[in-house]
Amino acid sequence: MSYQTTNPATGETVQSFASWTPAELEAALAQVHGATPGWAATPLAERCALLRRLASQLRAEQESLARLITLEMGKRIEEARAEVEKCALGCDYYAEQAPAFLADEPIETDAGKSLVAYQPLGTVLAVMPWNFPLWQVFRFIAPTLAAGNTGLLKHASNVPQCALAIERLVREAGAPEGVFRSLMIDARDVAGVIADPRVQAVTLTGSEPAGRSVAATAGQHLKKSVLELGGSDAFVVLEDADLQWAVAQAVASRFLNTGQSCIAAKRFIVVEAIADTFVTHFVEAVAALRPGDPSDENTTLAPMARADLRDELHAQVRASIDAGAVAVTGGAPLDGPGAFYAATVLDQVKPGMPAYEQELFGPVAAVIRVADEAEALAVANESRFGLGGSVWTQDSARGERFARQMQCGSAFVNGLVRSDPRLPFGGVKASGYGRELSHHGLREFVNAKTLWVK
Ligand code: NAP
Repeated sequence: MSYQTTNPATGETVQSFASWTPAELEAALAQVHGATPGWAATPLAERCALLRRLASQLRAEQESLARLITLEMGKRIEEARAEVEKCALGCDYYAEQAPAFLADEPIETDAGKSLVAYQPLGTVLAVMPWNFPLWQVFRFIAPTLAAGNTGLLKHASNVPQCALAIERLVREAGAPEGVFRSLMIDARDVAGVIADPRVQAVTLTGSEPAGRSVAATAGQHLKKSVLELGGSDAFVVLEDADLQWAVAQAVASRFLNTGQSCIAAKRFIVVEAIADTFVTHFVEAVAALRPGDPSDENTTLAPMARADLRDELHAQVRASIDAGAVAVTGGAPLDGPGAFYAATVLDQVKPGMPAYEQELFGPVAAVIRVADEAEALAVANESRFGLGGSVWTQDSARGERFARQMQCGSAFVNGLVRSDPRLPFGGVKASGYGRELSHHGLREFVNAKTLWVK
């Protein structure tokens, strides 16, 4: 499949790019391999200076980059601008923190001197999705380049211009040729790149099937891998929650990026005593979202990124309704061109329904009513996913006790699950393994080398 820019708001294909030939891929791999020792030997201060320049460039080009994101995957322009700023913050963060994260760690033993030294692994391949087409990549680039590794990107085939823009930004910020390359290759060619002896590790953010395939190849070739996969985050509303705040955050979490976020709240697990009130206010707010052109500042619901993904979502909604779920608002694609889907709330969601068991990657909220806190925890943890989760209660000690028992990588009390460069990000169970961001993310792709000197 070739790479294509198709405007999700209109369905119009704006530009196509042919996938690379084997010779083009080989030339890029050779170039990156050639640049790897030099980059590892570049003083850390210079590597951090590159990140600072990248941050200023991102800010200088914020508007045009945001428009590109909106054109290729349909995000609302305001969210796209925020995404570009977040990339700049991520670069600033690692420029600032990498010296501490990579400093030798002395450990007292019977040696004259013993320590852990953090050294680069070599070349890391990133396979990335379209939903945050810049942020997903920058949260890889910043720690990877700071650590002294070189990077390869296989971006999603519907955001080719974002992939090329990122490569250009890194080059224009002053990275030596070959320190970072965007590979315009098909998904089926990823296995060959992982297997290549010039590549030391791989990180993938994407779906479960892609994760299984990448992990299998990495395992076969004994390469380090990190997987950030799907999620079906629980949003647990206890009877003592501040409902006004919880409803506002529920809408923000579920409908940001038109619901196409791995850490969006997807299962609203609500204690029966307040369920009717919660659902009434939630539906009111959801029904007020205004679909429209994502480049128009007044739009509050953007299209989904692709028509095929919209159709998959609708099949999940249909099957859930057929099994007894109630669409209190929405429940169908919107007429007209573009990949629009109505903002939807499904109530009475029960085990066995797709809305209960699977990830709904779009603007559809599933409400699951439970008797009490104990049942809420059991339902939250019943999921095969374990990315994030949140609990809403005015008793923060109760919230913390609950959050500690949630089986997920990030549990928030009275706040929506979000990524923050200072905090580790990743999942358990079918949501993947390994961590991004913070020092945990940077250290996934370094050799934590023991040095022992007598
Ligand atoms: P996807 O289809 O898995 O695609 C992600 C990337 O993997 C794309 O670059 C894709 O290339 C590539 N790919 C697909 N199949 C592959 C294979 N068998 N081997 C190697 N590479 C392969 O996922 P998506 O639909 O774009 O993204 C949505 C999913 O990502 C959701 O499940 C979401 O929850 C998850 N996600 C997780 C996180 C997280 O941090 N945990 C963040 C964002 C999204 P092509 O485009 O060429 O197919």
